[in-house]
Amino acid sequence: MPVLVFDLDDTLYPELSYVHSGFRAVAAFLSPLLSVPADALAAGMIAEEAAHGRGQVFDNVLRQHGRWSKALVAASLRAYRQHRPKISLFPDAERALARFADLPLYIVTDGHKEVQARKVTALSLSGRVRHAYLTNRYGRHRAKPNPHVFQLICQREGVSPAEVTYVGDNIKKDFVGIKPLGFNTVRVARGNYAHYIADEAHEAARIIQSLDEL
Ligand SMILES: [Mg+2]
Repeated sequence: MPVLVFDLDDTLYPELSYVHSGFRAVAAFLSPLLSVPADALAAGMIAEEAAHGRGQVFDNVLRQHGRWSKALVAASLRAYRQHRPKISLFPDAERALARFADLPLYIVTDGHKEVQARKVTALSLSGRVRHAYLTNRYGRHRAKPNPHVFQLICQREGVSPAEVTYVGDNIKKDFVGIKPLGFNTVRVARGNYAHYIADEAHEAARIIQSLDEL
């Protein structure tokens, strides 16, 4: 039986929605400390992220209000990582999970393991996949493109890589490690790499615009 494995961020749900959800949690935390309405703080963080990326959002918002300190930046980051995200599946992801519900389904995702686990919970995915492999649990060196957890899936299902298809969005790391082993690869063209074209080694065997094409 074919085995279908999905990436999480920007494949099954829009990662930016997690970022914004986190900003709202941090804004709620900072609001009483800065005496600024949470909505205004969140809007400031969202604008800051859109203009300059994620790296300095908390530093810059705290600076704007004259309250920068290392401790408050760290506390903001904790509030961000520990918040319970309010996020939803892409509509085509919802349809794909329903359409392929009879197949063995898995998730393979990198990133902070507790953060990723909270996303899986928020999206109610635990009951819909056999397992969500958080590569971080196996050591940082097992993050994609390392094929370790994909090999675990093969062992668990008793299948060869040719029977396993990975659907992801990240041309830097999603496909390059598993292609040489014979896994099938599909890229959904969205997220940060939607408009990039990768070289042969990094590109998926097939590119789709929507999971409805799976
Ligand atoms: Mg991704």
